[in-house]
Amino acid sequence: MRKTFPCGHKGKGLYCHRCKAESEAKKKAKAEAPKNKAHLERKHMLAQAASEFGADLNKLPHTRLIRKAIQIMGRVHTGEHFCVIGGKVLKYSRKMSRRLVVFSLDMDYRLIYEEDTRTHSLRLIGVVSHEEYNARKPLENKI
Ligand SMILES: [Zn+2]
Repeated sequence: MRKTFPCGHKGKGLYCHRCKAESEAKKKAKAEAPKNKAHLERKHMLAQAASEFGADLNKLPHTRLIRKAIQIMGRVHTGEHFCVIGGKVLKYSRKMSRRLVVFSLDMDYRLIYEEDTRTHSLRLIGVVSHEEYNARKPLENKI
C-alpha cells in the first residue's frame, strides 16, 4: 500500500525512501568535501610547481611536503644560498664542475639540485624518495 509520509512524499514501507536516500547523499557529500578540497589544493600546488619551477612533485604523498618543496624552490629562485635554506652538499668531486645539493623534505623525500660550481647556479633535478636517494643510481645517471 502506498501511503503519504510526514514529509509529504508518497511511497511504501516504514519510512520515506526518497528522503532517506537524499539525506544519505548529503551526508556522503559532506564527508567527501574536505577530501575534494585537499585534492584540489594538491592539484593546484602541483600545477604551480610545474609552471613556476618546472618541477614534477607528483611523487610527494602529502600536501605539506609539496608546500615545503615549493617554499624551498621559491627561496632558491630568489637567490638565497642553499646553506641558509637547509641544503646540504651530497657529493663533491674536484674533477666535477657540478655537485649535488640536497634538501630534506621529511624522512622519506629529498629535493635535489645540481650546482654549477663555477657560476654557483642551481638547477633543479627533482624529488627523490629515500630509497632512490640511498641507491643514488637515478641521480648519478643524470650527472
Ligand atoms: Zn520524504
